Amino acid sequence: MRDTLKHQGLRNQLVQTLIKKGITDKNVLKAIAKVPRHLLLDSAFEYHAYQDKAFPIEAGQTISQPYTVAFQTQLLQIHPGDKVLEIGTGSGYQAAILHTLGAQVYTIERIKELYLKAKQNLEKIGIRPRYMGYGDGYKGLPLYAPYDKIIVTAAAPYVPEALIEQLKPGGRMVIPVGEDLQVMKLIIKDENGQISESSHGTFVFVPMLQNKE
Ligand code: SAH
Repeated sequence: MRDTLKHQGLRNQLVQTLIKKGITDKNVLKAIAKVPRHLLLDSAFEYHAYQDKAFPIEAGQTISQPYTVAFQTQLLQIHPGDKVLEIGTGSGYQAAILHTLGAQVYTIERIKELYLKAKQNLEKIGIRPRYMGYGDGYKGLPLYAPYDKIIVTAAAPYVPEALIEQLKPGGRMVIPVGEDLQVMKLIIKDENGQISESSHGTFVFVPMLQNKE
């Protein structure tokens, strides 16, 4: 599969859809216009890749809906050079968007097959996160902590304490919390280490599970 003008055109239409749905961050929209989402999906989805929908990937997981990716990324307020930890690499699409925004991306995935596939697919499109690993997001990634930003892309039953600890003072974390339906929580750690939390609508994610598979 290649990236053609036709794919680019479909991405521009997707950007218009996201603007209508309320995404305003210009840099996030530019990143959506750049990243070839179809090359991170099974070829059967080539011409569906730019619909604003989640799609199945291997191991019963999903690539997040572009709106959700844009929304979470916008809440993070990414600046070039930010050190960002992502929990739930999945297809690698969210990691690719963060990388395109100039972030240093550290991403972990608990299903080995997905970790390997995402690594391969991101290499194919010339995207090299700082770190991609096979690991359990409940523990975070203490080796490279602390992080300016943390993003969880699976439904968490609660906010894991390890992730709060690994957030820098002044840092932001975006995490969907809940069972059947998740509330998008923005957690801010101020310069004194005080935590505050706000809610930003409801979403549906695949569950954040304990331990590596
Ligand atoms: N960010 C991904 C979304 C994938 S869906 C994308 O852009 O495509 C969520 C992913 O989180 C799944 O691949 C799932 O296996 C993974 N996941 C769930 N619990 C996890 C955990 N405890 N640690 C790491 N990854 C986890």
